[in-house]
Parts: sequence; structure tokens; C-alpha cells
Amino acid sequence: MAGVEELFAVNVFNDAVMRQRLPKETYKALHKTIDEGRRLDAEVASVVANAMKDWALEHGATHYTHWFQPLNSVTAEKHDAFITPVPGGSVIQEFSGKELVRGEADASSLPNGGLRSTFEARGYTAWDPTSYAFIKDHILCIPTAYCSYGGEALDKKTPLLRSMEALNRQAVRILHLFGRMDATRVIPTVGPEQEYFLVDKELFDRRSDLIFAGRTLFGAKPPKGQELGDHFFGTIQARVQAFMSDLNEELWKLGVLAKTEHNETAPAQHEMAPIYAVANVACDHNQLTMEMMKKVALRHNLVCLLAEKPFEGVNGSGKHNNWSMFTNTGYNLLEPGDSPHESAQFLLFLTSVIKAVDEYQDLLRASVASAGNDHRLGGCEAPPPIVSIFLGDELTEILEALEAGAIYSGREKTDMTVGVHALPKFPRDTTDRNRTSPFAFTGNKFEFRSLGSSASVSDANVVLNTIVAESLRQFADELEQAEDFRGTLHELIVRNIHEHKRIIFNGNNYSDEWVKEAGRRGLLSLASTVDALPCYTAEKNIRLFETHKVLSESELRSRQDIGLDSYAKMINIEAETMLMMGRRQILPAVLGYIGSLSSACVSLRNAGASLACGSSLLSDLCQETDRLKARMDDLANILAAKPDTESAAASAVYMHDQVLPAMAAVRASADHLECITDRSCWPFPTYDELLFSIQ
Ligand code: ADP
Ligand code: MG
Repeated sequence: MAGVEELFAVNVFNDAVMRQRLPKETYKALHKTIDEGRRLDAEVASVVANAMKDWALEHGATHYTHWFQPLNSVTAEKHDAFITPVPGGSVIQEFSGKELVRGEADASSLPNGGLRSTFEARGYTAWDPTSYAFIKDHILCIPTAYCSYGGEALDKKTPLLRSMEALNRQAVRILHLFGRMDATRVIPTVGPEQEYFLVDKELFDRRSDLIFAGRTLFGAKPPKGQELGDHFFGTIQARVQAFMSDLNEELWKLGVLAKTEHNETAPAQHEMAPIYAVANVACDHNQLTMEMMKKVALRHNLVCLLAEKPFEGVNGSGKHNNWSMFTNTGYNLLEPGDSPHESAQFLLFLTSVIKAVDEYQDLLRASVASAGNDHRLGGCEAPPPIVSIFLGDELTEILEALEAGAIYSGREKTDMTVGVHALPKFPRDTTDRNRTSPFAFTGNKFEFRSLGSSASVSDANVVLNTIVAESLRQFADELEQAEDFRGTLHELIVRNIHEHKRIIFNGNNYSDEWVKEAGRRGLLSLASTVDALPCYTAEKNIRLFETHKVLSESELRSRQDIGLDSYAKMINIEAETMLMMGRRQILPAVLGYIGSLSSACVSLRNAGASLACGSSLLSDLCQETDRLKARMDDLANILAAKPDTESAAASAVYMHDQVLPAMAAVRASADHLECITDRSCWPFPTYDELLFSIQ
């Protein structure tokens, strides 16, 4: 392998390549677009396109694609060759500015949630020049946003870019109030830690549930799970290490800053964390990471499972979304800072997040809602569906002292008037002591831990950026009018701490006491996707997104409907898969075993011997098999009685209320049968094989 430095970003048309290959003027003009969001001139676009094409051809590309992220959380691409015919029957390879900047996507089969009818199915893709183009499998990929001709967002990138703009607008207002005139842009940063499972491909191929649902729908608990804590940070198995090394290499070539790799809590579970990047780039890179994980795994005869809960009884996979805000001058706005001035500014930004999370708990919960993630949230392995903030004891005490107008009596005694003194030094909680919190302050960033492992990080960050933008907007409105800036600032921070401190919780989020306490505090507990997703269109939330021009009411409705629709479809696929496996695999296998067991008993009896355990086992098997069959019939009937409705919400509620419990009943019987059936008869690989076979 070439050295990492030579390898890094070889397949990326990044700034260094642009500087080298573009005429100075073009490079400068493009930078204005990238840095300041200026419109790109057609002339400039055509020069960039040509340079990009030459570079791509030199790197083995034959096609280009507008690479985009439709509303189903995966990425979409349609390849076009660079060829153009010329007289004489040959071709030349061309790529115009127009082709770079804008594409037509006849993507009528992609979800649009009613924003586009099929007869006017065309949408268009528009280049996002702030995320570098790259080459993947001989295809030049141009990161793009995807919209309808009416300008409505049909993807995950458009609202993310809009929300970044919203945050930028409001945060810059605040910084100017603090006299930081050099700060002309504020950019949210995101570092998503990606968890995943690896299973052997041969075993995977024998399980229809893994193939169709990405998670096991059956499976008795093996004798050993994760209880010994011997997998987390354990020595990495040779086969897994080979996969990780290969993955790193592929990601580095694509300019993804793959940094940390380790074994996670559950057997066969692992994690990769990149170094953080600007939110939209981090989102693109996370999509690429998930794609590469799947591809590279196959080269090692492994399958990468990104589902949130592939196995019952052991931890599922999430995606910790580390988030902060930086100025264009490289200053982290969530860094406590040393001077009184910096402390005051830090406290204001911190308060803006506290207020945002409290006022929009519902949206944060909705942003991580999916059928898969429902199995994880609240399972004492991931944060509960109740949103709260962990600040750590010291920072909480500081806020309490501020609110009470008291002198902070922590490590150092300090008068707590904002803007007069620097914050007392508090130990940074970089160690992440409290892993049960959904939203933890970890020293100079917040970590939102509720995201599901297969989700795009876009939704959560759209919400985060927008809700914090709204807090900052209100703060800026008030502070811009203030005659006494420092006094008003102090009063504003104290008032907001008072109003929103109920969202702060430093204790154990998995405990039953917290559920009760959260109820007393009036915090929301939206247990499932069907409770959470409708929040997108609550009056206050429509107003929020429209105020900041992030999503219109119809865009919100479409997203909500698509979410509910895929929830219902996913559960339907799972239920059908269960029935298929039950009817064609489990029942035949168990009946076969019952047959051979009863013949053995008959032969024994004929020979004058008796086997007491044979008949009791037979009777257990028969009883449970009958129960399984009855439960499968129930499930089939419930599926057949699905309401014939256009309403995604009604379908989702039906699947949640009727189908999920029926599926759980089928599973319970099947898992019991697995435990009392001859292993060699069981028709597909069991948990012990799936979880413990990779060395
Ligand atoms: P842990 O597992 O203890 O949370 P990791 O090192 O696995 O820590 O992940 C921390 C993640 O947070 C990394 O992706 C890192 O780049 C990211 N991060 C660090 N600082 C910031 C920041 N200011 N903004 C956004 N992400 C950050
Ligand atoms: Mg973390």
C-alpha cells in the first residue's frame, strides 16, 4: 500500500487539484462560490467542467454522475459517459459547464411524498460546489442537491444546506454583537461515529431475514452475549482487521478522514469514527462510508449490517452525531474560552442550544425516527426516546449559580456576572462519563446519540442547525435592541437557564426513576416512530422551518409521509419474511424432527423399551409447533386485514399497533422451538454462529 499521505484524496477533485489545474481567475471565482455562496458564472462553470473532465479521464473515469441523496436515505446515481459523436463515426469525450452545474433526473420512482406527480416526474440536480467531486468505480461523482422544477427539495442535502445558511445568518448576528467583526461565516461541524456489524457472507446468504430486512427476525439467545464486556475495545480479529485496513484505504482515497476503529460492545459489532468536517461534507462522507463498508465487506466474504438492531439481546448500532459551530476564522463557538468576553459568548451559545433542545424535543426525536431505530431507543443500550441534555456536574453547577445570582462555590470562587469574569475552570467531560444521555456536552461539542446506524445524518443536523438558529435569532433580536448590552446579556442568559433547565439531566437515563422524573418535568416521551414523525407538521414546527426558509409546509408534509410510509412498508416486508421463513423453513424442519423423534419412540416401544423424556419432549414440541402455526395464522390474518387507506399515518399506526405484537408472538414460539430442536435440523444459522464465527 502506498503511504497514507500519497493515498489520501487521490480520487478527489479537491482544492489542491483545483489550484493546480484551474486558471487563477477561475479558481478565485469558484472560491467565491464555495466560501460565500455566490452564484457561479456560466463561463467559470465551463472552465471548471473541462478541467474536472481532464482530471477524471487521467484517473480512469469513463462516466460522470450527479450523485444525490433522495428521501430514502441512500444515495442515487445515474451514469452518463463523457462521449460525444463527431463526424466520421468516432467520439470525443466532453463535459460542459451546464452538465456540471445542473442535471435532469427522471427519477419518478424515487419517493417524493406527493410533491411531484408522475406525469411531471422530472426533477433536477444542482451541483453543491462546497463538497468536492470524486471518482468512485470509474465514475466521476458530482455531489448535488435534488429538487423539483418548482424548487421543492426532494432530497436530504437541500434542507441541510438551507439549515446551515440559517444557522450562519443568526450566529453571525450574535458574533457581531460581541464585536467579532472578522467572523463573516459560521459553519456547523459534524463528526459521525458509525457503528456496524459484520457477519460471514455464507451464513448471511442462508437467512432470508438478513437478506430482506437487514436484521434477524428469529433467533434464540446464545449462552453468551456481551455480558463479559470482552468485545468492547477487544483485540481486533484478523479477518476484521483486514476489512478495516481495506476500508480505511478506500475511504482515504475518497478524502474521508477515517480516523478511529475499534470493536464495539456487542459481539461482531465495530465502529469507525472520522475526524469531523463541515456538516454537508460530513453527511456526504457518511453516505460514502456506509456504501464502502458494504462493498469492502464483500471482498472479505463478509456482509456489513447497518440495521439498527440486527440481533435481539445484544446492543444495536447507532451513529453518534458530534456537533459544533465554527467561525470562518477557525474559532469553536462551543469552546469555553479563557477570557471574560469568550466566557460570556460561550455561555450565550450554550444557552441557545439548551433552549433549542428543550423547545424542540419533539423535532429532535422525530429526526431519528425509523422502524429500525425504534428497536434500539429505550432498550437500555441507546438513549431513551426522552430527549434531555447532559452537561456534567460542574457546568450544571455553574449555570445554577448564575441563575441563583450566587457565587459559584466550586473549585474557584467567582462572582458569576456574565461578561465580567471568565468561567471558573471546570474539568472537561471528554471522557463521556454519561453514555446514557441522548444529548451530551463533551467539552467543546454536543454529541447527539440517538441517531440510527443506517440513517443519513442529514435529518438530525437539519433540525439541530435550525432550532439553534431560532434560539440565536431570538437572542439577537433582543440584544440588538439593548441599551446596556452586558446587563441584557446577563439577564437573558439567566432567564433562559431558568426557563429551560428542566431539559438538563446528568443522571442515569436508563433508569425507571428518570422516566417518572421526566414526566414530572413535562418532558416528552415519544415512544415510537408513529408518535414522533407527526411532530414535523405541528404548527410551531412548520412556523420554525418556514421562518428560517429551511423547509416549507408541503416539504415537511412530504417528509413526514415518506417516513411513515417507509415505516409501514418496512414492517410489512419483515412480517412477510417471517411468514415465509416460518412456513417454508421452520415448520417443515420442526415437523421433520418431530417425525424422527416419534419414530424413534415407536421403535423403542416396539423393542419393549420406554423413553420418558422422548414423550415429554415430543409433547413440548407439538404444543409449541401448534402455537407457532396459530400465531403465524394470526399474523397472516392481521396482514390481510390491513386497512386500504391512502393515509401513510393510518397504515403506520396499524403496523405498529397490530402487526408488531403479532410478529413478537411468532418470534417467541419459533425461538422456543429453536431451543428444543436438534441443532442439525434447524434450517438456518443461529445466533451463536452469526455472532461468534469471525476470527
Ligand atoms: P467518543 O467515542 O469518546 O465519543 P470518538 O473519538 O470516537 O469519541 O469520536 C468523537 C467524534 O467527535 C470524532 O468524529 C471527532 O472528530 C468529533 N469531534 C471532535 N470535535 C468536534 C467538533 N468540534 N465538532 C464536531 N465534531 C467533533
Ligand atoms: Mg462518542
